[in-house]
Order: sequence, then structure tokens, then C-alpha cells
Amino acid sequence: MGIDHYDAVVVGGGMGGIYGVHQLREAGFSVLGLEGAPEFGGVWYHNCYPGARVDFASTDYSFLDPEIYREWRWSERYATQPELLRYLNFVADRYDVRRHFRLNTWLTGARWNPARALYEITTSTGLEVTARFLVMATGQLSHSKTPRFEGLDDFAGELYSTSHWPHHPVELTGKRVAVIGTGSSGVQAIVAVAKVAEHLLVVQRTPNWSVPAGHPDADPSYVQSRIEHVEEWKARLLMHPFGVDGLPPAGLAADFSPEEQQRLMAQRWDEYAPGVMGLFTDTGRSPETNQLVSDFVRSKIREMVDDPVVAEKLCPRYPIGTKRLIMATGYYETFNRDNVTLVDVGADPIVKFTEHGIQTESAQYDVDVIILALGFDAFTGALDSANIQNADGERHADLWSHGPNTFLGLMTAGLPNLFLLTGAGSPATLSNMCLMNTFHVDFVVDLMAHMRDHELAVVEPTKEAQAEWTQHCADVASQLLRLHVDNYMVRVNEDGSRVFMPYAGGLGAYVERCNEVIETGYNGFVMYTPSDVESQPTAALAGSSPLTTASQD
Ligand code: NAP
Repeated sequence: MGIDHYDAVVVGGGMGGIYGVHQLREAGFSVLGLEGAPEFGGVWYHNCYPGARVDFASTDYSFLDPEIYREWRWSERYATQPELLRYLNFVADRYDVRRHFRLNTWLTGARWNPARALYEITTSTGLEVTARFLVMATGQLSHSKTPRFEGLDDFAGELYSTSHWPHHPVELTGKRVAVIGTGSSGVQAIVAVAKVAEHLLVVQRTPNWSVPAGHPDADPSYVQSRIEHVEEWKARLLMHPFGVDGLPPAGLAADFSPEEQQRLMAQRWDEYAPGVMGLFTDTGRSPETNQLVSDFVRSKIREMVDDPVVAEKLCPRYPIGTKRLIMATGYYETFNRDNVTLVDVGADPIVKFTEHGIQTESAQYDVDVIILALGFDAFTGALDSANIQNADGERHADLWSHGPNTFLGLMTAGLPNLFLLTGAGSPATLSNMCLMNTFHVDFVVDLMAHMRDHELAVVEPTKEAQAEWTQHCADVASQLLRLHVDNYMVRVNEDGSRVFMPYAGGLGAYVERCNEVIETGYNGFVMYTPSDVESQPTAALAGSSPLTTASQD
């Protein structure tokens, strides 16, 4: 039997993958979608832990396609994971993409064949295909960190991970549970598990900033007006720094007197607590302004937690917003419950797991269930496991030895015809990921259509454009306090240099730059015709050759 060939293979059945397969089909391309899980959903399939919900308003975190937007009503302002999963399945059906996907099928490798200008693709099921383009819709927060606790296998109780929560019922009622990790996933799980567990140990290494997410219900008249004007809203959200309908900033903190600053922060907190981060335009850059906002939120934490000793342990010491702000209603109040204990493993580190629980340097904690919420190998984890190689056998890791090298976060010189949706070097996790995914898909599909119209076969960024963009990303990030705080968005190289992985200039500025690239006939990309590839096959593989650039009029 011959090997099937497609114009594009899209990897991932989450938001980007579903929309990508749909848009490519609409544009007349042959396409195969690959998804390792048995269902659509991506992160919203795997992260089905108790309490999981989106922390962007669902009116923003939606496909802003008028047909889809009109047909779906979110039941809450921040949709829960089960509702998100229903939504993604609804969209997959509405777009009729199921028949173009292979579920339960992981990409195991892809190698660029320069003579044929295509990727030779292998999968976990033995299926082999070829495709001219490879679109990675694998997300940036999909590959979870491997737990490295000594004695992990000795624990005789139940062990779960938020990022790969089982799809069978997990009974936590009446059990002694420990949650390790207090990032967004851990915090959401903690609030939910505390309500059912006999006892909950919150195992915290670093206290993080968490703010109440805000009103649970969306205002029906607002939702209706969003539906009626969805296209205008899409254009508006694309120009916002984070891709949301956010409250406007008041200005620099120094524009206001100390009394006015306090009044504004209190007002913003009551109106929409997460908005306190964006109240002053310099909170992310000025240590003084950040201290002001950090002190204000610390005072709120002390108000919410009854026990002053516990409150101090929960108060973060790093500048607010320099790791992703956590949004979770009821988090701090959870520590007022009799069945919840905070364990500070920053002060008393975990030594090992034992048969009955967790041993720290000074205590043994016996539990029935341990939930790991340790975070993700962000930005590179999914690519590492995908095993994508150019003709020389180089992988992205070889080309990113000092941090991501991309043009617009979408492509890397040396890996032709490979698109990374929401990749490092794009606003990615700093923005509304649903909007970001759809914007990237639209960009990729338009680029592929342009290449088809001009009979072009191979595309990659020029090294100059890539270097200029990578430098621009570094320049923008260099002003940020968050570059200096360790977290999953910062890569620390062996020589101590730090690289901020997403583009920090804001979604609006990013979209404008992408639109400029389109308007100039894809300036910054180099494209080759099939005859270029035939005559000099090895040149079109590593971005290293001065191959004739195809006419791009
Ligand atoms: P995370 O923010 O990276 O948090 C990981 C947590 O695990 C941290 O508290 C970390 O402590 C702790 N940890 C790691 N290794 C540890 C160890 N050996 N011992 C003790 N503690 C350890 O990961 P996450 O909570 O999964 O969130 C990641 C991102 O996913 C979020 O920022 C967000 O972008 C996204 N997310 C979104 C939603 C949503 O939309 N609602 C929900 C969940 C996640 P240290 O800080 O000390 O390293």
C-alpha cells in the first residue's frame, strides 16, 4: 500500500488543531489532523482535574467566527473544563473535522526530504504519511514536567497529576489528600478538593500571587451585544495587548498622589481584582510601582486569611505579575477551613515520598492521595517529543541552543515548511490563546494560499528577519521585571543569560507586525519554487544558502 500524501499535517486536536484543519480544508488544501488522545480538546481534554476552568472570560476565549459564536452560549463567565470540552467537540462537529483527524495517534517523527520538498511523517500507530507542510498545534503548556521525587514509586496510595488527570471518576470525598504545587492548576484544584477531602495538605514551595477571578456570571445584555458585533469585537481584541476586553489603565502610578493610588487600587480590586495588575502602565517595569501594587495585594491576602502566621506564609515575596497571575475565587479563604493545612516546603523541603505519604526534612505527612500540580515543560517540551528533523538531522533544539530563534514565533530558519502555532517569540501564553491560535492559523493558511497561487513549494524565514525579530523580542523583554524571576516563561542558559520566551510587546503590536509582513508580500520569508528545489535540493533545508528567492509580486 502506498503512503498517503497531504498538503498539510496538523498535529494536535485542541483549539489550534480543530480550527487549523477546518481553515485548511476551506481553503482547498488536503489535510490530515493527528491527535494522540482519544478525544478532541488538547489541554482541556487532559487537564480535567477538579476545579479546572479557564481564567479568561469565555466571551473572549471563544472562536470569534460569527456562525459558531452565535450558536453557543456559555453558562458561566469563566467556563469550567467540562463545558470547554463540550464546546470543542461542538466546534469540531460544526466544522465537520472529525473525518479528517486520526485520534489516538501520536506524531513520533517527521523528517524533511529536500529532494521532494515534503516531510516524511511517522506515528505511534504505524501510520506513515508525507506532507508538504507540518503545522504544530501542540500548545505551549501540554508537556508536563516529570516529577523527580525520590521514592515516588514507594507511595502506596493514589497518585495523580493535574495535567494528565484520569478520565474515570476519582473519589476524593473523605480522603486525606495532598496537593503539591501552587501555580494556576494547583490553586484551582486546592479550592475544589478542600470542599470534599477529609483533610487537605497544601504543599507550597513558593507562595504565588492569586487574585479572585471576579463575578461568576456573564451579563446577558453584554453577551448579546458581543454576539451581535462579533466581527468588530474580534478586530478590537486583536489590537488589545492580551486579546481581551480589559479595563483601561489609569496611567503611570506617578501620575497620582499616594491617596489617589490607594483609592484607584481599591476601586479596581472591587470592580475586577485581576485588573489591578493593569491599572498602572508601569507595574511590570518599575520596581517602585510594582512594590506599591504588591503591598496592596498583600494587604488583601492578610484580610482574607484569618491566621496571621498562615497569611504571612501565603504572601508572595517576588514582584506581582512577574509569574503569570493566578485567578481563582476563594483560594485564600480555603486556608480558613479546619480541614486545610499549609505545608511550607520552601522552608522544610521534601526529602522523599514514602509508602504512606511525604517526608520533609522535619516531618512525615501521611495521606491517601497525592495530586501533583508541578507545571509544564513549556514552549519546547511538545516539540522535543515530536522529533522533527531537517535533512541534516537537526531538530529545533539544535537550532535554539541559546533560546528560541524564530520569525514571528511561527517559523525557524532551517526547518522549512514547519509552522509553530502560538510558538515562542509570539505573544503565546501572555495572551488569549484561543484568539492567538486562530490568528496564527489564518496567517499560515493565507501564506500557504499565497504560495499555491505563486507556485512556490518551500518557505522559511530569512536569517536576517529571524535575527531581527529575536533581537526585538529580547529588547522588549529586557525592560520587564519578569525577566529576572524564574518561571516557565523564562529560559536560563548555562552561561546565566536569560531569554523571555513569549513576545512581550503585546498582541496588538504583534498583529500589526504580522499584517505588515503580509502587506509587503511576506517580507522576511524566503520561498522557493519546485524547480529551485529540484535543481538545488539540499540548499532548501537549512536556510544557509543564497538560493534564488522566488518572485513574490
Ligand atoms: P506552574 O505555574 O509552573 O506551577 C507549578 C507549581 O509546582 C509551582 O508552585 C512550583 O513551585 C511547584 N513545584 C514544581 N516542582 C516542585 C517540587 N519539586 N516541589 C514542590 N513544588 C514544586 O504550573 P501550573 O500551575 O500547571 O500552571 C502553568 C500555566 O498553565 C499557568 O500559568 C497558566 O498559563 C496555565 N493554566 C491555566 C489555567 C486556566 O486557564 N485556568 C489553569 C491551569 C493552568 P515553585 O514556584 O517553587 O517552582
